[in-house]
Amino acid sequence: MNRRFLASAFALSMVASASWAKHTVDPKGPDEDGTKPALTAIAGEGFYNSHAFAYLTELTDNVGGRVTGSPAGQKAIDWGLAKMNAIGLQNVHAEKWSMWKGWTRGSAFAEMLAPLRHPLTVDAMGWTGSTPAEGADAEVVTANLFDLDSEMADMSRFRGKVVLMKPEGVPKKNFWMIFAQYGDFLKDLHKAGAVAVIGGQGGFKAEGMHLTHTGILGFAQDFAIPVVDMTMEDSSQIERYLASGKTVRIHINVQNTFTGGPVESANVVGEIVGREHPEEVLVVGAHLDSWDLSEGATDNGTGSTAVLAAADAIVQSGQRPRRTIRFVLFTGEEQGLLGSLAYVKQHAAEMKNHLGSVVLDDGQGPIKEFQLGGRNDLLDAFRLFVESLENIREIAVTDKREFGTDTGPFILAGLPGINLDQDSPEYKYTHHSAADALEQVKPDVLTQDATIMALTAFWIADRPERFATPWTPEQTAKMLRQKGDYDMLKSFDLWTFGDLGQEPGPAPN
Ligand SMILES: [Zn+2]
Repeated sequence: MNRRFLASAFALSMVASASWAKHTVDPKGPDEDGTKPALTAIAGEGFYNSHAFAYLTELTDNVGGRVTGSPAGQKAIDWGLAKMNAIGLQNVHAEKWSMWKGWTRGSAFAEMLAPLRHPLTVDAMGWTGSTPAEGADAEVVTANLFDLDSEMADMSRFRGKVVLMKPEGVPKKNFWMIFAQYGDFLKDLHKAGAVAVIGGQGGFKAEGMHLTHTGILGFAQDFAIPVVDMTMEDSSQIERYLASGKTVRIHINVQNTFTGGPVESANVVGEIVGREHPEEVLVVGAHLDSWDLSEGATDNGTGSTAVLAAADAIVQSGQRPRRTIRFVLFTGEEQGLLGSLAYVKQHAAEMKNHLGSVVLDDGQGPIKEFQLGGRNDLLDAFRLFVESLENIREIAVTDKREFGTDTGPFILAGLPGINLDQDSPEYKYTHHSAADALEQVKPDVLTQDATIMALTAFWIADRPERFATPWTPEQTAKMLRQKGDYDMLKSFDLWTFGDLGQEPGPAPN
């Protein structure tokens, strides 16, 4: 998931809201709250004795691509369990959950037949269907991703055609709403008898030189119609032909296999048990699953190995936090946050004892912003910790919400789902593509990210005052409505708050 790759497509205005926090006790940072000696020891282990890049090399070379529900996905789970045991975490175990359906990539070929004859480079999107075994020859027509209302008013023109998605004009909705409607459009195209769709991640053009980007096209959604991503060089040429009135015909053959569900997967869990309040839990996590066009080094090998290296640094430092740090490698993130949604469900009774989650999933760059998931009451206290990192890196603090990764389910549970946003300009190329390889990751950057993750986790878990308690559903629903997340969450069936959080309407006159 993750909408980072579309950052340039939308000028989203992000306004950091002012804190309305009222503190009964003035918050204290590491200089005053007694955590500094432990943090210093952890920083030493994290920076000078890091195993982050060694872990990432093992994951990419010994496991490789690891789609949830596949044999490689299980190999990754076994690897994660072995690694957590080797690091010396406590209570290491797998927490099983199951997904609605499995999927295996077969082959995807396309060739332009007219006006020129040459091969086209395509790859199938995850959890999408197949053409007939012999493929199909068809004319290409475009559909405007930014005006799906009009396109869906007349579907008959797509019968027997290959549909090339083309964002034109100004989007009338935000990214997530367009993404949700794109899924509806794909279902309608199948019903209307379209042959296939060229329109990768959310229907946008592929980024990068001769790259395709796979991915899912909804939260836990599969599509019977074959959908492919095509290199921008090939799709742009087709667009130019069509714009000049030429007829474009292609041959396309896509073969994928669905597996009947439920398909089992598991989150990988290990702990450093708290010394004073073992029942209080901070989750530190990232998703272990990846796509299959490459080895998933930046999505999300970096996050997974940062979690493991953070655990390693804390264990090696000999420091024990007051509260439990639970390290979780989620699976099924790429199919719609399935592992983290399952975690929150399976631990529902325990959520009142959770302090929040810290998640890293923005590629290969250095951490640039702590996003506190709507919890503006925590900004002041957290800033004091971030000031203590100033000699390592200048990092911003906001209360932005990230629903494109495993922070989402924790935010919905009223907790600070803290996203460690990264400065990863190249991620738009490596994201879900064949370029997502170890070469794209710099050991020093990964080491820094892992160490910052370790320091963040330990400070939250160890500070004398409890960092956060969950907001009530009413408070959370109100915040999400105020931030404008209601329509998006509703469209993906993630809104579980009913009528909660509505402002009293204007008085009737
Ligand atoms: Zn990811």
